[in-house]
Amino acid sequence: MPGFEIFGEEEKKEVMDVLDTGVLFRYEFPEQRKGVYKVREFEEKFATYTGTRYAQAVTSGSTALKVALTALGVGPGDEVITQGFTFVATWEAILEVGAIPVFTEVNATLNMDPADLEKKITEKTACIIPVHMLGAQADVIEIVKIADRHGIPVLEDTAQAAGGRIQGRHLGSFGTCGTFSFDSVKTMTTGEGGMIITDDEELWRTMSEYHDHGHDHVVNPGARGGEGRRFVGFNYRMMEIQGAIGIAQLAKLDTMVREQKKTKQRIMEAASDIPGVQFRKLIDPDGDSATFICFSLQDREHAKRVNVSLAAEGCGAINFGENTWHFYPKWEHLLSGATTVKSGWPFREPGGKRRVVYDADMLPQSADIVGRTLVYPIPIKMDPKRLEQICSALIKAKNT
Ligand SMILES: *Cc1c(COP(=O)(O)O)cnc(C)c1O
Repeated sequence: MPGFEIFGEEEKKEVMDVLDTGVLFRYEFPEQRKGVYKVREFEEKFATYTGTRYAQAVTSGSTALKVALTALGVGPGDEVITQGFTFVATWEAILEVGAIPVFTEVNATLNMDPADLEKKITEKTACIIPVHMLGAQADVIEIVKIADRHGIPVLEDTAQAAGGRIQGRHLGSFGTCGTFSFDSVKTMTTGEGGMIITDDEELWRTMSEYHDHGHDHVVNPGARGGEGRRFVGFNYRMMEIQGAIGIAQLAKLDTMVREQKKTKQRIMEAASDIPGVQFRKLIDPDGDSATFICFSLQDREHAKRVNVSLAAEGCGAINFGENTWHFYPKWEHLLSGATTVKSGWPFREPGGKRRVVYDADMLPQSADIVGRTLVYPIPIKMDPKRLEQICSALIKAKNT
């Protein structure tokens, strides 16, 4: 699963190009940098790879979400709908721009349930963020259809699904924009880093300026110091070293996915004899990035028994119902409105009035599905012995 598994000579070579010039900044220094613009090159290659017109590199997948939401004009007074099974970063970014996160159920795709989405849209909904969790597709075509009917932009959180597709089209390219993470455990990694893709030139221009303190990037004789600005920005710039690593990792992405698919197929076969087992519903199995395998059992108790049996063989799986970082009822700091801000923002208005109250039992369908689902991450380079161990543990588990 993580790109660091195959970190090698290609990454080193790209990084050396940067170290040879000594220019770590993505802009400026035209003489010293000898034509080396790694972040720009990474953006161009990423846009080409995903079949989109524009890509904007930023410092992380979290800031990618924030920059995208900001460029879409989302802020206080708005609601943003996402799913209750995701990494905390998705809704942290929504709170970060001052909007209120609203959570939908997930369905058998383990991603946003379009039927529940429809029920949660209000006149305050300013954006919809389906997440392609654990490497596989949200039902994004259906979600975009619903959003279009209401005139609401869709931002695809593709942090966990770089290289994933539906009918050949890249995840992240269906909505108004899509965000990616290259943190140290993601399928392709730059250590820290993120990207936003879009076909909308004006949206891209706004993101580009906002992420760089508002610099308008218009060519002018006064260079950077003389540039104008249209609005207040902030700094989410990616460094040249990360851009360099990204170029090398991107070139390996399709190979990573291919290797993971082979391993995943073997594990699926071994698990298929467990009574009542159901594999995660994939919108397009061919476009799966295969970074995880997810299978659900008859009920929570059955899942527990199976996992005890797997653990006894040294192959315990992840149950995200128990995981505190990815599932709504376990986000006690969100549910209680814990914040460092003295006024209580973003959970309270400056006067003290509560802006939102969350109920831990609000997503029963998600609790059922997530609670009886077991998950293994799929390494890019799976040790054959380890693979055999997992497969034989799964075969044994069919009697539990
Ligand atoms: C990792 C992740 C992020 C945040 O990415 P960082 O680069 O770690 O900030 C956002 N959303 C999801 C679904 C993620 O898994």
